[in-house]
Amino acid sequence: MIAPITERAVRTYGVFIDGEETRPSGELIACKDPGTQEMVAQFERADVAQAQAAVAAARRAFDEGDWPSRSGAERAEVLRALASLMRRDQEALARIDAEESGKPIRLARGDVAASIAMTEYAAALAVTAHGDAHTSLGPDFTGLVIREPCGVVAMITPWNFPLLLLMQKLPYALAAGCTAVCKPSELTSGSTLEIARLAAEAGLPAGVFNVVTGPGSTVGNHLARSEDVDVLSFTGSTDVGRAIVEASAGNLKRLSLELGGKAASIVFPDADLEDAVDGVLFGVLFNQGECCVSGARLLVHEDAADRFVQALADRVRELRVGVPLDEAADIGAMIHSAHLDKVLAYVSGAEAEGARIVAGGSPLTSGPFEAGCFMAPTIIDEVSPTSRLFQEEVFGPVLAVSRFRTHDEAIELANSVEYGLANSVWSKNIDTALAVGRRLRSGTVWVNTTIDGAPQLPGGGVKSSGYGREMGEAGFEEFTEVKTVQIRSGKRTPFFRTASA
Ligand code: NAD
Repeated sequence: MIAPITERAVRTYGVFIDGEETRPSGELIACKDPGTQEMVAQFERADVAQAQAAVAAARRAFDEGDWPSRSGAERAEVLRALASLMRRDQEALARIDAEESGKPIRLARGDVAASIAMTEYAAALAVTAHGDAHTSLGPDFTGLVIREPCGVVAMITPWNFPLLLLMQKLPYALAAGCTAVCKPSELTSGSTLEIARLAAEAGLPAGVFNVVTGPGSTVGNHLARSEDVDVLSFTGSTDVGRAIVEASAGNLKRLSLELGGKAASIVFPDADLEDAVDGVLFGVLFNQGECCVSGARLLVHEDAADRFVQALADRVRELRVGVPLDEAADIGAMIHSAHLDKVLAYVSGAEAEGARIVAGGSPLTSGPFEAGCFMAPTIIDEVSPTSRLFQEEVFGPVLAVSRFRTHDEAIELANSVEYGLANSVWSKNIDTALAVGRRLRSGTVWVNTTIDGAPQLPGGGVKSSGYGREMGEAGFEEFTEVKTVQIRSGKRTPFFRTASA
């Protein structure tokens, strides 16, 4: 059980390899609450030898252990036990993620609930997964298309949703019969290590799930290079994604890349504008805008633009920024000061190019915000589609507003960035919503909603947002390998003529 977190006690974690959590022996990475700058945890700065040991444990568990050959029902039992332990410890898991990443506690609770739901859904997939039999190939020829676990999976995750993004991968991989090594972000490793403990308590055999903490340049790079890793599932920035593609070339391991995004919320005048105001703000401010599917751009039709932007500005001033454990906070702290500076530079760059700040635009530094990294939710109008603010991933609570006149123009603007993770369409006209939605180049399109989802629904990107899918049956299949078994029955028709013929 995760000890209830009452007062500020610094949590210290080692790495988790082959069913054992070791005491940290080397250097430690300090983890500070981004909202208060108090130290909340420390993680081991593991080295390449520890990464090698973690991969070796996963390799052994796959090649020699019984996890891959257990029945789906047996694997499902362990996953359901894990889900119920996560439910038991949900408040501690939420608090760990909130304190380490800076997100408001009520959002962290949502991440835990979604992670539990995905674990339970993956348990169902473990039971129902099946292959195909081809029985119309002729009376003596039968084809079986079977799905096997793909082997050892390395998982590398970022800091913005430490638990949720792990659980978009891990239960699906375990359901398929794979073994795994995870390297969480060095900034937010706590919940991943707690999941390793809970999985062991749930009955997951030693070596099936290993966690090794530390920098991407050493530990992460080793996982990308390792010849003993069969599949690498990466969530993070597009730049690191590219580095991983190069590093992984040695054994041609399969990759799944969930990378950056630059989603647009496209608002038509026939939308329910009250819903759209709430949805557009939720889309851009959810998790302080530190979200790959953040609706960082608003494309609004000229006919509705002025009143819509005014309504957004009025509403945004009522929202509450707060420290992560503030129960009433809508928006939390930015991960660290270097990131806050980067976001602010985008704002001043856009202003210098003639864009107009209609709300926010600056850091929050006084009163409860004195110690941490906070930014006022920001809306910037008249943003040029060629500006960096419009084109690049900002990863902060900043909405860039541009206007359009026609459907074609809206689609062209939405598709004009290098990313293709998600977009949202706000319109009550089904023809508009479908016609526009189908022409948007992104892995997900939301209609009259945003940052929505369910464990059954796959997500992923196109263009520079990566490839591969997570969640749903498509996400499960990423962790399987297709094998074809071709069976001839009866007496073989000889290919070679016999000597007597
Ligand atoms: P990041 O790319 O800097 O780091 C992600 C992970 O990769 C971390 O664990 C890091 O230690 C590791 N890493 C860094 N260098 C590495 C290397 N050379 N080899 C192997 N691993 C390495 O990303 P971040 O700053 O932690 O997270 C923010 C980024 O993640 C944003 O770009 C965001 O869009 C993206 N993201 C994408 C999704 C998605 O589903 N598409 C979801 C969340 C976040």
